[in-house]
Amino acid sequence: WLRRNSVAVERASDSKEIFRELFHTYQESKALKKVKTQPKPKPTKLEVVLLRVHQILASDIWKRGIPLIMALVFLVWLYRKRTKQISVKKKAKFDAQKIDGEYHCDVFIVGGGPAGSRCAYSLAKEGIRVLLAEKEPYPSDKICGDVVAPTVHDMLREMGVMHDLMQEGIGKWITSRGLVSPSGNSFVAEVGTMHDLSVQRVLLDNLMKNAAVRQGADCVQLEVTNLIPPTAMNSYWSIECKQPSGKTCTYHSRMVVAADGATSNLSRSIGLVTSETNTIWSRSFVKPGSHKFGADFAIFHPPELSPGFFIVTREVENYLSLCCFVMPGGKVTPEDLPAVHRRIIKENERISSIIGSDIQMTEIQCVPVRVSGVHKCYADQFVVVGSAAGHIDPLNGQGIQYAIIGANLAAKTILEGFKRGDLSATHLQRYQTRVDNAFGWDLWMSSFLAKILYYVPSILDATAAMIKRNGKGPLKLWLAARSGRGSKFQFIRPDIILMIFVEFVYQTAKSKIK
Ligand SMILES: Cc1cc2nc3c(=O)[nH]c(=O)nc-3n(C[C@H](O)[C@H](O)[C@H](O)COP(=O)(O)OP(=O)(O)OC[C@H]3O[C@@H](n4cnc5c(N)ncnc54)[C@H](O)[C@@H]3O)c2cc1C
Repeated sequence: WLRRNSVAVERASDSKEIFRELFHTYQESKALKKVKTQPKPKPTKLEVVLLRVHQILASDIWKRGIPLIMALVFLVWLYRKRTKQISVKKKAKFDAQKIDGEYHCDVFIVGGGPAGSRCAYSLAKEGIRVLLAEKEPYPSDKICGDVVAPTVHDMLREMGVMHDLMQEGIGKWITSRGLVSPSGNSFVAEVGTMHDLSVQRVLLDNLMKNAAVRQGADCVQLEVTNLIPPTAMNSYWSIECKQPSGKTCTYHSRMVVAADGATSNLSRSIGLVTSETNTIWSRSFVKPGSHKFGADFAIFHPPELSPGFFIVTREVENYLSLCCFVMPGGKVTPEDLPAVHRRIIKENERISSIIGSDIQMTEIQCVPVRVSGVHKCYADQFVVVGSAAGHIDPLNGQGIQYAIIGANLAAKTILEGFKRGDLSATHLQRYQTRVDNAFGWDLWMSSFLAKILYYVPSILDATAAMIKRNGKGPLKLWLAARSGRGSKFQFIRPDIILMIFVEFVYQTAKSKIK
């Protein structure tokens, strides 16, 4: 043992030191043994990765993999360049913040009518941070004939609005409808349910707003007073608003949707819409129990309203809504309209014989309207929807359906814009193309037909007589075109034109003989 530890013995100078050195050597060998028997610590994740990288670098795969990795990087770069993918939900969270005392959102929608609410619903559903600003408190009345066409029932069903309407008994199916031509030719058609629906606008607008709020849209009572467009330095719209208390506040938004109704004040303030409203319509209600109207809906064509018309609709609780629709080019002026509205009800024999002469009527209200669409409904980070874009049919006075369909198309285009990171006019032009394809051409056709009827109103007499004579086929076509389910271009089908022409000749000859 001494020999084995001779080093310690050599190091020591005296016997006392020999023992100390030997004791140290013994302790060192014991510690070494302990270290050897301890289990190896597990390598950390980083060590494993580094080891793996080292192995790859040392192997042949690296040399072969270089082109592969470069190709992969190039493809990822190309993909990102093409789509400029933005995580919408992430962005929305950021934009919802109140920064320096001012509010930020992704999309600011002005106007809480059907167009504004549908747009807010579709965007909020996809996680976009939407603010819906309506200047009036909910629920508030709106001047309307209250007929909702079947083309949007599915969208209302999706929003849960149809369910609410039926559940609460505030929607009524229009099951019979009639037409009276200028000279008195008339017919009544039984159409069954699932066609047009009559519902008071005050309730419809409220339910649609609630549906948007359920999806996460913020709805605030605000009147937008001024819009400051984005600049090169600041890519946000600044929207100056007035609160009901009279206080002012400013919002910032990447996108503005103008759904502010027929006057299109916002679009006009930025120079997108340059024309005034092109006509004026009126409405009054008849109290239940004071009328004798038997059908659910009737359209009259009194000569004094030409080329316009007069519509009677039965609503829930047996109220009647009476509306005068004056078309662009008509002789009735805005000042005359209330008097004309009253006179038609009192003095037009066909109308008074159908609804009764002793009716109790509410006040007559008139509003300016924009029909047939505007020339352009998009700009950089800005779109116009609904009646603000003139999306109202001049042939039947309907606009709710176009407001909802158009707003849905606007939301779709805006959503794509967010995903691409492109909300420029070039991208938003798609919205106009989509609107043109969906109903723009139909509105154009309606304007064209309305002009023809203005110059030759007897075509309407011939059409009414033709539908009465030929029954189901033409009636179906008329109903489909009226409700927007069928194209207005069907009216210029050669067989229809021929039938109307034959009837026209017959009617003219008959009146000449008389
Ligand atoms: C007499 C009459 C009868 C009609 N009958 C029918 C019918 O039977 N069927 C049919 O389908 N269509 C009918 N229409 C057309 C229909 O009313 C419109 O097409 C429809 O209201 C369009 O909806 P919108 O959301 O675009 O606009 P609106 O419903 O007009 O909503 C615009 C909203 O914007 C708000 N607003 C405006 N400016 C501001 C601002 N600065 N800040 C904040 N909010 C603002 C307004 O308060 C309003 O609530 C009728 C219209 C009239 C005038």
